[in-house]
Amino acid sequence: MTEARPIRSIVIAGGGTAGWMAAAAFARRFERHPISITVVESSAIGIVGVGEATVPGIRDFFRNIGTTATEVMQATNGTAKLGIEFVDWRHDGHRFFHPFGLYGAPSRGVQFHQYWLKMRAAGRETPLSDYCLCTALAQDNLFMPPPEAPQSDLGVFDWAVQFEAAAFARFLAARAKAGGVTHIDAKIEGVELESESGNIAALKLGDGRRIEGDLFIDCTGFRALLIGQTLGASYLDWSHILPCDRAVAMPCARSGPLTPYTRSTALRAGWQWHIPLQSRVGNGYVYSSRHISDDEAAATLRGRLEGEALDEPRLVRFTTGKRSQVWVRNCIALGLASGFIEPLESTSITLIQTGIERLIDFFPDRNFDPALSAEYNRIATQEYERIRDFLLFHYWGNGRHGEPLWDAVRAQELPEDLQRKIDLWRSRGRFVRYLWESFADPSWLSMYVGLGLIPEQYDPMADFFSADDLDSAFAKMREAVAKAKALAMPHERFIAENCRSQIRGE
Ligand SMILES: Cc1cc2nc3c(=O)[nH]c(=O)nc-3n(C[C@H](O)[C@H](O)[C@H](O)COP(=O)(O)OP(=O)(O)OC[C@H]3O[C@@H](n4cnc5c(N)ncnc54)[C@H](O)[C@@H]3O)c2cc1C
Repeated sequence: MTEARPIRSIVIAGGGTAGWMAAAAFARRFERHPISITVVESSAIGIVGVGEATVPGIRDFFRNIGTTATEVMQATNGTAKLGIEFVDWRHDGHRFFHPFGLYGAPSRGVQFHQYWLKMRAAGRETPLSDYCLCTALAQDNLFMPPPEAPQSDLGVFDWAVQFEAAAFARFLAARAKAGGVTHIDAKIEGVELESESGNIAALKLGDGRRIEGDLFIDCTGFRALLIGQTLGASYLDWSHILPCDRAVAMPCARSGPLTPYTRSTALRAGWQWHIPLQSRVGNGYVYSSRHISDDEAAATLRGRLEGEALDEPRLVRFTTGKRSQVWVRNCIALGLASGFIEPLESTSITLIQTGIERLIDFFPDRNFDPALSAEYNRIATQEYERIRDFLLFHYWGNGRHGEPLWDAVRAQELPEDLQRKIDLWRSRGRFVRYLWESFADPSWLSMYVGLGLIPEQYDPMADFFSADDLDSAFAKMREAVAKAKALAMPHERFIAENCRSQIRGE
């Protein structure tokens, strides 16, 4: 048996969302271990600072580092998020909601949507969203924490948060430092490798210091200073599948209601995000540079702001894809250094979180068993591909005709796994579930139906009940949703009473 050689020091390069999430998580997880944790970042370089919307799993991360969503929202001008409203994706004037919640109640082992399809086929269609409490709350700008013991699936939903990215990084940094993490503000000028193993030995800083470590975490953003520039991990470019390659971001003052959700509006050359925060609204236009110029994209965004612009437009260029390997020798990349898929479903921060959790699960010693990194890399690639395919479905399923970007994405050939998923849905309303998928059946259901992809047949098992039986069962479900909704309060009041920002006026 090889002698274990425990890790004694972790060096995190980069102090954006990824770097400080890793530092806060490691500080908490290794608090009783003799492991030093150091974050090296350059305030002169700064952070990308645009990740403002999350998915519900983020609340597990808050718990794991010993905090709560309420504390985070207070520190970051945060708001609650029940899902995403998609506007104009099917055609101009159409909108639907992707909730973090379930639809209807199953019966006799048959999923609710099969009964809904049966009723639709019988000409007795009601909106699918009528059977989803989460959507009902969002549509009326209401919020409440989910019931702890819901009486049926009708009461099951989840929620995430929306926050100021820079404030979130600051919040995490304060926690990490309080937990013993050392912070160095300096530029990394070079990376020193051990001659024999090829492992990273130290970071060379601009002020002449040399920071040694056993394990290095690359959180240097798109630069990927360690994993890419030093260790040469190649980049899998997926921009031929997901065509957007730029974003322009511009915050504005809020003039509309404080919605408990993110909005995504399809535009001619991409889509616009709208993220309501306590202090402002985050806006951005994610677009394909082949279909619109930077100036035109910025002007389009400016023209669509709901209130006064609070900053100049900020351009971010990106290449959708991921590193072929995110763990090479003694270096693991997290965040933008590991890859980037556009923020259509707010998945980047969740990928940082799962990357950290998996690393803790697969935590190596200084022998760096290649079996660990191989499995870590295999899972990371699958996780990325599943998210890529979910987003790709949003594009492929669009109904915007006569616009070159949207016509092209609709016409493209899909990856085999995604095509199989769609085929099974289309024939019988069946879901195909793959390992490492971040989005479960209700998410796919909302996107399929929202984009108008209705199965040719429903499951014959749904014929157990007559249409008249279902009519009354459906009416009871709608009543149950309305009753549960009556317990909620306006989102704005929930925030004022529970999460009022402690940084307002900064
Ligand atoms: C347009 C856009 C919108 C997005 N929206 C969302 C969203 O809604 N939800 C979501 O989950 N994600 C979103 N993301 C992704 C999200 O912003 C990132 O995943 C997140 O901010 C993590 O970034 P990072 O920490 O990896 O990189 P960065 O924020 O770029 O941080 C890099 C760090 O490395 C440091 N650094 C780099 N080089 C050096 C050097 N030589 N020496 C010292 N330090 C160095 C920098 O100073 C900085 O501290 C979005 C991304 C983009 C581009």
